[in-house]
Amino acid sequence: MPDVIVIGAGISGAATALELAAEGVEVLLLDRYGPAAMASGWTLAGVRQSGRHPAELPLARAVVAQWATLADRLDGPTHYIRQGNLRLARTAEEVAVIRRLVAEQSAAGLDLRFLPDAASVCAVAPAVAETVLAGSFCPTDGHADPVATVESFVRAAERLGAVLRFGEAAEAIEVADGRVIGVRTASGVIPAGRVVLAAGLFGNALLAPLGLSVPIEVPMVTALRSEPAPPQLAPVIGVANADCAGRQEADGRWRVTSGRETWPGALAEEDGRPVMRPSAASIAETVIRFGAVVPAFRAARIERVWAGLIDLTPDGLPVLDAPDAVRGLVIGMGFSGHGFCLGPVTGRILADLAQGRTPALPIVPFRLDRFAGWNAPRAVPTLHG
Ligand SMILES: Cc1cc2nc3c(=O)[nH]c(=O)nc-3n(C[C@H](O)[C@H](O)[C@H](O)COP(=O)(O)OP(=O)(O)OC[C@H]3O[C@@H](n4cnc5c(N)ncnc54)[C@H](O)[C@@H]3O)c2cc1C
Repeated sequence: MPDVIVIGAGISGAATALELAAEGVEVLLLDRYGPAAMASGWTLAGVRQSGRHPAELPLARAVVAQWATLADRLDGPTHYIRQGNLRLARTAEEVAVIRRLVAEQSAAGLDLRFLPDAASVCAVAPAVAETVLAGSFCPTDGHADPVATVESFVRAAERLGAVLRFGEAAEAIEVADGRVIGVRTASGVIPAGRVVLAAGLFGNALLAPLGLSVPIEVPMVTALRSEPAPPQLAPVIGVANADCAGRQEADGRWRVTSGRETWPGALAEEDGRPVMRPSAASIAETVIRFGAVVPAFRAARIERVWAGLIDLTPDGLPVLDAPDAVRGLVIGMGFSGHGFCLGPVTGRILADLAQGRTPALPIVPFRLDRFAGWNAPRAVPTLHG
């Protein structure tokens, strides 16, 4: 009988399993498909502090300090590259957005620089089009390989004793007298007194029978990956209104994403993994948008396209909480399009909550009960990338 069952082997669940296993906790990591099958595989995988909500900035700053040595800790690859995040302005309105972002985040202590013209932007990244008007640059941001990173977390957790069960879905979280007693799957009930729910956008299906839910919208994002190309771009590129983003991976492949799109609601399965196909129009639009800010991308030969889904909460912030209503339940969901970077600290926080400890980082803004009677405006577009 495990002490803790972690549902979901994306970066959040895999990192939690590692933290718990490292403490000698008997942990079972359960995934309906396998590691990085959903958002943690669909992601752009920017590792950034810039563009974060003030509530998330302490977590992002703490985690960026860990990414450089994460591969050593995991004894497995992350392909982490710290060469900055460049956010571009293409219109006068976007210049104002970038200027405000730099002022706010510099005041919060982040090294975020305003680049006032195309020349200063191109000095940082010569591949950027000279038509851009301005930008912000955070030199300590970067990117990583999401699938390799999640696999490395999973293998490190397994080496420390975590038990892996992949290809098996949690069908229900079993509760008696207000306390978790196990997880039901097709093979029966696995008894456990504690459950960490890190099932991404499927988490609500398991919360609903418990009378809980994380309010989320589920927009879709188109993603393109090219064949390896000569290295031309070091930082991750974003834009002020988040309608495209992109980077060059360690092996030169371009990885480029669109802005938010409407998800038609279909999710097929291929080779035991959930898949969505973006429309031809969206692929073309993404090529045109990103190609307009990084012209070298236009010469890339696209090797793979997919669409990813985002678990977007009303305030664009995740839920990291152990709600009083169900003792033994810990929730890590609703990362709103920027939870990959946070994975290593998310794991620490969820493990602390599962162990009944108060996490060292501030998590009050991520309580589930903030949505009780929620009537604030919906989240602004998440600044992914
Ligand atoms: C296109 C795109 C671009 C993004 N860009 C960035 C970026 O640049 N930077 C960044 O930080 N973040 C980015 N994100 C967001 C980031 O990828 C996610 O926030 C993060 O990966 C969430 O990880 P997770 O482990 O919480 O969830 P997921 O990775 O979705 O993992 C959930 C896991 O739970 C499993 N599961 C679901 N239901 C069940 C069940 N019933 N039983 C068992 N297992 C179950 C699934 O199979 C899955 O493996 C992006 C996301 C997308 C889609």
